Amino acid sequence: MILEATPPVDDLEVNPWESASHRFDEAASKLGLDDGMRKVLRTPAMELTVNIPVALDDGRIEVFTGYRVQHSIARGPAKGGIRFAPDVSLDEVRALSAWMTWKCAVVNIPFGGGKGGVICDPTILSEGELERITRRYTAEILEFIGPERDVPAPDMGTNEQTMAWIMDTYSMHKRHTVTAVVTGKPLDLGGSKGRVEATGRGCLIVTNEALRHLKMSPGDARVVVQGLGNVGGMAARLMSEAGYKIVCIIEHDGAVYSPKGLDIRALTAHRHETGSIVGFKDAEAVDREEALFIDCDVLLPAAKENVITSANAERIKAKVLCEGANGPTTYVADAILKEKNVFVIPDILANAGGVTVSYFEWVQDRQGYFWTERFVNNRLEEIMVSSFNDVIGYAQKHGVNNRLAAYMLALDRVAFAIKRRGLYA
Ligand code: NAD
Repeated sequence: MILEATPPVDDLEVNPWESASHRFDEAASKLGLDDGMRKVLRTPAMELTVNIPVALDDGRIEVFTGYRVQHSIARGPAKGGIRFAPDVSLDEVRALSAWMTWKCAVVNIPFGGGKGGVICDPTILSEGELERITRRYTAEILEFIGPERDVPAPDMGTNEQTMAWIMDTYSMHKRHTVTAVVTGKPLDLGGSKGRVEATGRGCLIVTNEALRHLKMSPGDARVVVQGLGNVGGMAARLMSEAGYKIVCIIEHDGAVYSPKGLDIRALTAHRHETGSIVGFKDAEAVDREEALFIDCDVLLPAAKENVITSANAERIKAKVLCEGANGPTTYVADAILKEKNVFVIPDILANAGGVTVSYFEWVQDRQGYFWTERFVNNRLEEIMVSSFNDVIGYAQKHGVNNRLAAYMLALDRVAFAIKRRGLYA
């Protein structure tokens, strides 16, 4: 019985690795993958732990622990962000690196999956301390990264400045400038136009496709967005420009609601000035816990993981769930959403616009020729639309939900690459 092999619901609901593993197992079973291939796909290809001594501003020396995990390089160089956070762990980095393998495979770009992290609290470190941590961490993992090996990017607690430091450190060791070693760089250091908007734009594109599939129209669609950060803020702005009505924005300190649609630029400016969305004059303040259950057509969680769980999935009213965040829905909640017929655009598809434009950045750096923003956006649209169709086609062909279809498609593509390459020695 499946239930006997399933860990307690609580564990599945809090541990993203458990959720991801269950989805992996389900997809692998449906595909009929043999035990050997499952072992290969489950196990990261390389895990590196480094302990890095860094001089703090007050003269003390502290040792920070960092990781870089390459889950798979079967389809190309490992690709994935570097996270600076106090609760980074090897397990978390492993899970996130596997996620990157599946995400890159879903959008069919020639990368494997990787992830890195350093256990530190960027909110209490000075700019100088962050720079020294970044440079020493880069020096320690230097032989394992590179345009052909492993291409990091920003993640929680890191940004385009961090990428500039990594690029510079790597380049100093190579004795020439190597911009393609990282993506998410500043524009004038080999960054790509359209990268900042890419994840939010990807969410807009796949939501457009979902509405078309469901014979709904953006002009009539009411949207609730959780998280007005890079992904949610950009998605809300672009969706509102495309005619959607953004009726509610939920943040960590409050939620604002307007049935006629929020002015996202004005709300963003208000947050910029006051530090919060609370008090925005053209909207009604609503309870942030309850706001997830507002009657709407599209719900776009773009803040954090484990937001939609067995405790609340029943109350979701949206017809379309576009997962801007990584892992916002737990494995247990999936079944409830399926019962309710919610059309789920799973995270490994919905938020893959970011890594897709990172791929474009890597291509442009290697070509030494930079594309216009329109060219980037058109190419992004092509990839997101065809990936959406691939996932929906797979779901229909195999009679499974969209999430399982996305996992099956990804596993199938990576397993195919491994089989064609064969095992060396
Ligand atoms: P961000 O830090 O720019 O934005 C997150 C926003 O969510 C912030 O405004 C924050 O205040 C808000 N928030 C935090 N806790 C909240 C809560 N409990 N309720 C409501 N709002 C809350 O981060 P981001 O880059 O936009 O990433 C958001 C999610 O998208 C993460 O899961 C990330 O892994 C995922 N993601 C990001 C990218 C990207 O390109 N930035 C790509 C793929 C996936």
